[in-house]
Amino acid sequence: MLVGLQSYIAKQKDKDILIVLHQMGNHGPAYYKRYPKAFEKFTPVCKTNQLEECSKEEISNAYDNAILYTDDFLTQTIALLKKYNSSHQTAMFYMSDHGESLGENGIYLHGLPYFMAPSAQTHIPAFIWFNDSFSKEVQAHKIQSDARYTQDNLFHTLLGLFNVQTKVYEPRLDIFQEKI
Ligand SMILES: [Zn+2]
Repeated sequence: MLVGLQSYIAKQKDKDILIVLHQMGNHGPAYYKRYPKAFEKFTPVCKTNQLEECSKEEISNAYDNAILYTDDFLTQTIALLKKYNSSHQTAMFYMSDHGESLGENGIYLHGLPYFMAPSAQTHIPAFIWFNDSFSKEVQAHKIQSDARYTQDNLFHTLLGLFNVQTKVYEPRLDIFQEKI
């Protein structure tokens, strides 16, 4: 996904850019298909999407290998952004669409209706990285460590970071705005 991005960025001279990278991530049940062989650090691995044929450990191992690969992908993404340190304010906002059950209480995957889904499926990983020049402007100290955020915060936080003036912007959903 990062191939060719630099030439795309070069063409957007003097414009703000939002680039959306939609990876397969750890999408199940075929976790073993989500990473190249070099990332198979945890073994033995479940090599079928029929999870009932695998042990809990094999399933978790395949899942963990896919996590390793996402780590590497995000590292490469940040490395690419760092190349623009002297010319741009850059940031990466990573967010998952859902979590995943890996056998806790006999539950797997992520398909349960929201009201009954365990937190493993609804408590998602997310983080934001800023380069130095951007982080000086962003009021990261306004994020409270015990605050609960949801995917609803993504849209308004992006509008805030890009200084987009629009009446659909709701500051209370921008995680970098003062909470009243
Ligand atoms: Zn998904």
